[in-house]
Amino acid sequence: MTSASSAIRTGPGELMAMSQEELVQLLNQIPDPVFIKNREHRWVYVNQAFANFLGHEREWFFGKTDRDVATEQEAAEYWRLDEDVLNSGQTNINLEQHTNANGLRCIVETKKSRVVLQDQECLIGIVRDLTVFTEIQSEIARSNIELERKLLDSKAEIARINSQLQQLTFFDNLTGLPNRRLLLSSLERRMKDSPVALLYLDLDHFKRANDSHGHPFGDAMLVELATRLRAISAFSFVARFGGDEFVCLTREGFPLDKMSLAQASRELLASVSQPFLVDEIEASVSASVGIAVAPMDGEDVTRLLQSADNALYRAKERGRNQYAFFAQAMSAQARDHLTIERGLRRAIRAGKVRVLFQPIFSAQEGVQVAVEALARWRCDELGEVSPERFIPIAESSGLIHELSHQVLRQALEQASEFLPIDQRLAVNLSALQLDRLTLIEDVRRALQESQFEPSRLELEITESLALSKDLRLMTVLNALRDLGVGLSLDDFGTGFSALGHIQRLPIDRIKIDRSFITEIALNQKSRAVVEAMIRMAHGLGLKVLAEGVETVEQRKVLKELGCDELQGFLLGRPGTLS
Ligand code: C2E
Ligand code: CA
Ligand code: CA
Repeated sequence: MTSASSAIRTGPGELMAMSQEELVQLLNQIPDPVFIKNREHRWVYVNQAFANFLGHEREWFFGKTDRDVATEQEAAEYWRLDEDVLNSGQTNINLEQHTNANGLRCIVETKKSRVVLQDQECLIGIVRDLTVFTEIQSEIARSNIELERKLLDSKAEIARINSQLQQLTFFDNLTGLPNRRLLLSSLERRMKDSPVALLYLDLDHFKRANDSHGHPFGDAMLVELATRLRAISAFSFVARFGGDEFVCLTREGFPLDKMSLAQASRELLASVSQPFLVDEIEASVSASVGIAVAPMDGEDVTRLLQSADNALYRAKERGRNQYAFFAQAMSAQARDHLTIERGLRRAIRAGKVRVLFQPIFSAQEGVQVAVEALARWRCDELGEVSPERFIPIAESSGLIHELSHQVLRQALEQASEFLPIDQRLAVNLSALQLDRLTLIEDVRRALQESQFEPSRLELEITESLALSKDLRLMTVLNALRDLGVGLSLDDFGTGFSALGHIQRLPIDRIKIDRSFITEIALNQKSRAVVEAMIRMAHGLGLKVLAEGVETVEQRKVLKELGCDELQGFLLGRPGTLS
């Protein structure tokens, strides 16, 4: 380069004179790469930054073209741009990717302008390395993506927790069935759309099954039961309403006449009563079902459920293991619960609960051998109330202990006065009484006070309760035996037993439940069942009593089957002793 001077103004209005050398030095010190190409696209000048950027000596570039530093394709593109700028004289800004001296791919912005240098059209280019910015940008983009992913993750997490919550909120943990909450909302929607029948199912004495075999067993039963209920085609919706209560809704289009609903209920009961097999323990359970149809029996969810509940209550009252339809009159009956509790409390305090005695006969000789004491109570408002109604209320309200105490004392008192010396006295025990160790002392004292011979007293406990493996129960039963009193297993056949289980119990007698006796003369299967029960009991050295004998046919069959004792309206209703 020659030392031709150029003029640059310094200070106001004055140009600073610069030599060509000084200009080259200046260009070299610009931190951004600068280059000058001639018309043939050859570099005629590059500054130090340019040389550094591409990793060659400055001198190396002179006479070389883009082909020497870029791919053929890139070079072609640069040439096209160069031509544009040289022909049009318009500045061009282009974003390009280059591999720099360190082998790193860089993003650069190249600004090219046409200049005339020494009468030649040339092209001056300034390169700005944007890699740092783009790196920052892509870093930002990356972290945005990352953030978004985290956000998505947390969204997924939230969705997961949400669905878990939903599961917890709307589905029963144990069975996976919809729970009460989901039932209520679904039912509300369903009732707006179309008529629907609601079947309210409650297992009979499930608590006893639970107590007998343990909670895991009970749980397994409920899970299995849920599967069975779901399989019934009449229903499109089955919910666990709580504990051992389930609610089924008929599917859309299911006929809601009594016959179809009765059929569905029978199917439901049959499916429940299939034996359950859990860990090689077999158990059966029955259920009671209350049916209410919307909108007839209730125009809103609450009223429909209440109606079904009332119907359920009626099914229970009729002796369980059956279904009942809602009938208007029942709501009042349900409302009686409080009246009964209040009245019963007063009656117990006033000693107004009475005892009647139902005779028990030997099956073969037909002579009276015992009586069973049965509680009787007349309510001021409701008249005579069945013990089947007031005993559960006494149990749930805690009145049962005082009530039982009074019944036992009265029964012993009257029996010691009026019952022939060769006859036994049977008294019912509530399951709750067996939970109290004071029971032994109560019985002992009552026996002592009445001077009644302990061996003539027989206490009746319900089957399912007696099957409990609870040590404490065994202790109580053995303690009662030690007092010299007899024990019998009431309502036999309604419980949850593996039959062999009763072998270990210190009992003298089983009382076959009335429900088996009712059918014994009518159907071969019931007869076979009772026959097996008697044979089994005798095999274990136990006596057998049949309850609820109402017809001569029944008596005849029972006698043939070798039953020991009979009790029922055919032979005598509950009455006074004197
Ligand atoms: P349970 O111990 O099974 O008593 C037999 C029930 O069957 C009695 O009803 C009796 O009247 C009835 N019964 C007897 N023979 C026949 C018959 O041939 N046909 C029909 N349909 N029924 C018959 P009750 O007196 O109404 O007692 C019902 C239940 O109430 C009893 O069933 C017992 O579980 C409970 N209970 C009664 N009194 C007491 C008591 O003092 N304490 C306790 N814990 N429970 C009692
Ligand atoms: Ca009884
Ligand atoms: Ca019974």
